[in-house]
Amino acid sequence: MASYDVIVIGSGPGGYVAAIRASQLGLKTACVEGRETLGGTCLNVGCIPSKALLHATHQLHEAEHNFAKMGLKGKSPSVDWDQMQTYKGETIETNTKGIEFLFKKNKIDWLKGWGSIPEKGKVKVGDEVHEAKNIIIATGSDVATLKGVEIDEKIVVSSTGALSLPKIPKKMVVIGAGVIGLEMGSVYARLGTEVTVVEYLDKITPTMDGEVSKNFQKILQKQGLTFVLGAAVSGVETMKTKAKVSYTLKKDDSEEVLDADVVLVSTGRKPVTEGLGLKELGVEITERGFVKTDGHWKTNIDGIYAIGDATEGPMLAHKAEDEGMAAAEAIAGKAGHVNYDVIPSVIYTHPEVAAVGKTEEELKDAGHSYKVGKFSFMGNGRAKANFAADGFVKILADKDTDRILGAHIIGPMAGDLIHEICVAMEFGAAAEDVALTCHAHPTYSEAVREAALACGDGPIHM
Ligand SMILES: Cc1cc2nc3c(=O)[nH]c(=O)nc-3n(C[C@H](O)[C@H](O)[C@H](O)COP(=O)(O)OP(=O)(O)OC[C@H]3O[C@@H](n4cnc5c(N)ncnc54)[C@H](O)[C@@H]3O)c2cc1C
Repeated sequence: MASYDVIVIGSGPGGYVAAIRASQLGLKTACVEGRETLGGTCLNVGCIPSKALLHATHQLHEAEHNFAKMGLKGKSPSVDWDQMQTYKGETIETNTKGIEFLFKKNKIDWLKGWGSIPEKGKVKVGDEVHEAKNIIIATGSDVATLKGVEIDEKIVVSSTGALSLPKIPKKMVVIGAGVIGLEMGSVYARLGTEVTVVEYLDKITPTMDGEVSKNFQKILQKQGLTFVLGAAVSGVETMKTKAKVSYTLKKDDSEEVLDADVVLVSTGRKPVTEGLGLKELGVEITERGFVKTDGHWKTNIDGIYAIGDATEGPMLAHKAEDEGMAAAEAIAGKAGHVNYDVIPSVIYTHPEVAAVGKTEEELKDAGHSYKVGKFSFMGNGRAKANFAADGFVKILADKDTDRILGAHIIGPMAGDLIHEICVAMEFGAAAEDVALTCHAHPTYSEAVREAALACGDGPIHM
């Protein structure tokens, strides 16, 4: 039996970051992980492998659609799916090995196996029980299935199966037009798969600013994705190598059926909180299975904390990371800080979509008086040169004070551009502060400045 100041259960972005920060703050730390490799969902079957496939297939798209326009002639590359999978696997490996290196560097013990909390101050891994003054639950999330739909990871797959299909399907039905479904749908559409996305609601990416969502849908349709909105999937029937997806259209209750070689169920994820002994310990769990915390990442039981996807809030790697750092700091007697009002979200399609702060719909509903500054990438020289002029930057600012309340970007490198607004919001900046900041030319970031100018006397290049 070993004794620790902190034992973190789970090594995803929440858990491994918490462990590193705890160790940096002088706490003797261990991290329990049941998977073969560190890094959690994000590094193994989430953010990293999906981005590798998005990157590879975007290169293919560029070669097929834009190379010749720039005078780069020759045969378009052909797809070697096995090699693309190898590239994805190597990307995962360098990242997960990187966490192993960081654990060694920070003298964090990796306790290999599945952990549980038999009593306060104790963590059981396999047959061994370790002592821990503090425990951080960072057990993350898993795929949520849809009623009446059974995932076999062959024909009916979750995102995990979709990342590693044995071959590129001819026809794919994606159930759920959220981030994961649209990213994976884009990957396969670029590889030539006929992709149909079936969504229960009347819009895609429902939490997104409405104007961005509409624009995004049009762009994806131009890229070959088909959308069936307002449709409730009632069942998926699998045959030997095919499936039939049945759904009811909400507008007229008509029943429709779609054929597919592969069906991707991307209707959400659920927290992993079973099997840890939490109920027996009396740790409060919400109705939807999340570990309840007090706003300082502490559960109702002293010495037990929880972070990341296992707790409420957006299921995002960077939210988990920030909470990991903050929880470790709180344990070390520091303040710990996460600003939940400024957590960006990004969709890594092409163009990318990124958002932070309030949407226009949220401001309207709250009766907040606001102004909108918008700038299209059509007016951005760099975007035009790079065939990336689809989309716009939209900044929402308080009508009276000019303080930035939110920003929504659809366009090239939106996931990077959004951080200028995140920093501005952290400083309580006005749109004018961004507008008065000199931006290098020619960069995509000039579109952000122009949108900020549009909140005042107007943009220059539009
Ligand atoms: C396909 C896909 C793409 C995604 N893309 C993005 C993206 O681009 N950007 C983004 O921000 N987010 C993305 N996400 C979401 C992101 O992966 C999660 O929000 C993030 O991984 C949550 O981190 P976490 O540390 O809370 O948990 P996880 O990453 O889920 O890690 C939890 C770990 O705990 C381990 N564990 C669980 N129970 C136990 C136990 N009892 N004992 C030992 N170990 C245990 C699990 O094995 C797992 O490794 C994506 C998710 C998916 C599925």
